[in-house]
Amino acid sequence: DEREPVEEVRPQSPVKPMTATEVKVNVSIPEAASRAAATGADGVGLLRIEHMILSLGQTPAKYIEENGVDAYVTEIVEGVRTVADEFYPRPVRVRTLDAPTDEFRQLEGGEDEPDEHNPMLGYRGVRRSLDRPDVFAHELEAFRRLYGMGYDNVEIMFPLVNDAEDVHALKNCMEEVGIDPGKRRWGVMIETPAAALGVADLAETGIDFASFGTNDLTQYTLAIDRNNERVADRFDELHPSVLRLIGDVIETCREEGVETSICGQAGSRPEMVDFLVEEGVSSISANIDAVRDVQHEVKRVEQKLVLDSIR
Ligand code: PEP
Ligand code: MG
Repeated sequence: DEREPVEEVRPQSPVKPMTATEVKVNVSIPEAASRAAATGADGVGLLRIEHMILSLGQTPAKYIEENGVDAYVTEIVEGVRTVADEFYPRPVRVRTLDAPTDEFRQLEGGEDEPDEHNPMLGYRGVRRSLDRPDVFAHELEAFRRLYGMGYDNVEIMFPLVNDAEDVHALKNCMEEVGIDPGKRRWGVMIETPAAALGVADLAETGIDFASFGTNDLTQYTLAIDRNNERVADRFDELHPSVLRLIGDVIETCREEGVETSICGQAGSRPEMVDFLVEEGVSSISANIDAVRDVQHEVKRVEQKLVLDSIR
């Protein structure tokens, strides 16, 4: 067993506060795994795999053509494993590939990618995955191998889901490669108003969790490009309409027994932390540098809620 005992990587001081709301950490590159684990976070709320793929310098199709499927699957397995090892047995939520076509177009083999007017409204997330189940199967094969290696702390998270139809198709894909959705922990991101408004239907598909991707949820709710500096001052994750969607999703999920979480940037902002804890979110995932502050903010709000309830 090559896994590090978890206690050894946890800092003993300053003391991590005990909270009912879990505080997790976002990880974008496997190289950050030990630094992320050392925060004492309760797990990884979002492990992005884009870097593992884009750093190959080739589109998945091109890379597979030149190196074979096994090499592609191995790249993903090794990247995820680095993080899953550091955190074991704490859960690591791995998001399936979500890069817009303009990022793929910069890679070798990118000339075969679509040239879109609106990549952020286009062929990305599960839209791409479900359109090419043959390529997506290799990604899921990486998860199957990780489970076979004993990494039962790995969870699968699907980006840019819109409705239950998407989720049923994703479940089929998991089953096709031999992953039993009834035996593994998996869930979806809430990144579009459609997903937020339709969360009751999503909850019936068997998801274990729903995680707010507030970067995209804000972009799509307010119709403000998250990468456009001219309108950046209007990009507000705390806009009342965004908060209303989030609050309603938390309430519905609580009724349906589905865990809720946040993995967008806003999870590192104290005002968002206050709102989410008061609404009863299950966990908050923050940037590495923000984890300790978020832990203390969560503790502060939880104590305030207890005091308010007995006054
Ligand atoms: C989000 O949209 O909030 C999110 C976490 O995903 P990404 O930033 O990778 O789109
Ligand atoms: Mg997103």
